[in-house]
Amino acid sequence: MKSALVSSLLFALALAGAVPKKVDYNGFKVLRVNLNEKLDKLEALEKLATHVLNPGKASFVDVVVAPENVDAVNALSAATVITEDVGAALKEEGGFSAYAGSETWFTAYHSYADHLQFLRDLQAGYTSNSAIITAGTSVEGRTLTGIQIWGTGGRGSKPAVLIHGNVHAREWITSKTVEYIAWQLLTKYSTDATVKSLVDKFDFYIVPIVNPDGFVYTQRTDRLWRKNRQTVSSSRCVGRDINRNWPYKWDAPGGASTDPCSETYKGVAAGDAPENKGLVAQVQQLKASRGIRLYLDIHSYGQYILWPYGYDCNLRAENDAQHRNLATRAASAIRAVSGTAYTIGPSCSTLYATTGSSTDYTDVTGNSTYSYTYELRDTGKYGFSLPANQIQPTVRETWAGIVSMLKDA
Ligand SMILES: [Zn+2]
Repeated sequence: MKSALVSSLLFALALAGAVPKKVDYNGFKVLRVNLNEKLDKLEALEKLATHVLNPGKASFVDVVVAPENVDAVNALSAATVITEDVGAALKEEGGFSAYAGSETWFTAYHSYADHLQFLRDLQAGYTSNSAIITAGTSVEGRTLTGIQIWGTGGRGSKPAVLIHGNVHAREWITSKTVEYIAWQLLTKYSTDATVKSLVDKFDFYIVPIVNPDGFVYTQRTDRLWRKNRQTVSSSRCVGRDINRNWPYKWDAPGGASTDPCSETYKGVAAGDAPENKGLVAQVQQLKASRGIRLYLDIHSYGQYILWPYGYDCNLRAENDAQHRNLATRAASAIRAVSGTAYTIGPSCSTLYATTGSSTDYTDVTGNSTYSYTYELRDTGKYGFSLPANQIQPTVRETWAGIVSMLKDA
């Protein structure tokens, strides 16, 4: 009787559309489309594309296009094929693995629940110098969960290193990378002199998934979703871009969209995404205590290390030269591990304009000494769906880059 009730309830939910069907990307292509800085082309392209993968680029953009729209995109502008079949590429990513509390964690992708379990188990192994922390709540009520790590000075006694991952939901390699940093700091603390010196020098605040709703949505419904899951009354489109919603230069023109259907929708007001409210409070709290030495916002893809500013291509941070020094050495450290080449520079002039971005906020309002955005592997071949066999190489090379920064910072 009970199971009959449950199944009829599930059936009713399915009819009501409450159980969304997963987006099938078989036959979809990723096309790189030349824009030549023409905005009208971009608008037409956005209507034809299922997703814009690198929104903000003025010279060219990579777009996911349904089979029936490929001809129309080609008619609009010269396009080259980056991925022949997105569905096939997603299969190469590998399925979810069962949770494993060891370094094999970094050889496959996992469910959101398993990510939380990973953090809890890691913390449980090192209760004297780590704690689970939270940074507010998402639109759908999930807690933004992270881990704090400290050394001999005791909890909260040193300048903060703040690290955020998976801001954009589809960038799965980023939470793995951020978790690897926490993993290394704790598991190597007692055996590796370099790690010990870093953990004794800073207080680490590490949040691997700051957009949990979007992340869950990429796993259940649309693998290529970017934004959070916040609605807006004026539109049927969903989601704010968390990295265009920070309350610094949110109003500046040109680096975000006011269209709720856009991948870079900035929101109705500065900092009006619940996730941003939690992250802003976290930054303010750290600023008010020991201050922030280094902020890292980990994204993919493109292989960039970027620093302020995003909102103005001519403006330079007061300590631009120091930012460049640290980034130069980090890029060399990464290249020494694997040969992976990174491009470095101030974000607006190096990649594209962004307003309401995390690193502009932490630099100016958060008073962080250093603020960087990493864009991890690759340069477009797999894009967001990096195959599972690239997780370990990516987290290891990025660790080398971040250790280099931590030594210098
Ligand atoms: Zn991103």
